[in-house]
Amino acid sequence: MNLFRVRGIQLAVHFSFFLLLAFVAQEGWADGGWAGLFWNVATLLAFFTCVVLHEFGHSFTAIRFGVGVRRILLMPIGGMAEFDSIPRQPSRELLITLAGPAVNFAIAAVLWVGVGVPAGWPRGDVEFPATAAGFGQLLLHWNLLMGVFNLVPVFPMDGGRIFRALLATRLRYLRATFVAATVGKVLAVLAALTALFFYHAVLTAVLFAFIFVAGEMEYRAVQRREDEDAQWRAMLARLYPVAPPEEEPPVLTR
Ligand SMILES: [Zn+2]
Repeated sequence: MNLFRVRGIQLAVHFSFFLLLAFVAQEGWADGGWAGLFWNVATLLAFFTCVVLHEFGHSFTAIRFGVGVRRILLMPIGGMAEFDSIPRQPSRELLITLAGPAVNFAIAAVLWVGVGVPAGWPRGDVEFPATAAGFGQLLLHWNLLMGVFNLVPVFPMDGGRIFRALLATRLRYLRATFVAATVGKVLAVLAALTALFFYHAVLTAVLFAFIFVAGEMEYRAVQRREDEDAQWRAMLARLYPVAPPEEEPPVLTR
């Protein structure tokens, strides 16, 4: 479902997001009636607003480098900005990628100044009070988690993209993608198994399974594009066995 446009970027929500919203609202209702429902829905919407701001961080940086951004799609597992192309210059990909987590750390810093953290934070069992300050503290906590989690080097998450960009300063782009995707897949399997068997966190395991598949798909897409580029170069080389002189237009012969 399309929501609205910001600087030409369409913000869209996948229908499964509404299932998540309904589920979270129902949980809140069961816990504490209207107050619980309101708290759960408000925190979920605030959380996904931060996800969108993270994606805008990527998108606005991409636009600065002349990369078109078609839309930002919001799903229960997170957001995804769809670029027309990903710049092959490692320095640009690095900046576009870093801009997402940077937004989360900036939000966390502002909230830290504004509301601080509850006593005992960041222990896992800290309670966030159901007040305006507690709301801000919970968002601070989530933004830090979001920023750090995205920097884990599992391609195609932000950390994996940063890893690829660093590799691409020394390796060919396809090779760099292969190495980053392979390391990412191994880490994704380890993370999924750890989540499942040590923490019984089924949803986290499913998330890493998604990331595994996404890494494989993106590697194949890069491979396909490189193959097409190679075919074009081979065809041009056949058409122009010798580089055409600058002044004269090239003559096509068969
Ligand atoms: Zn990101």
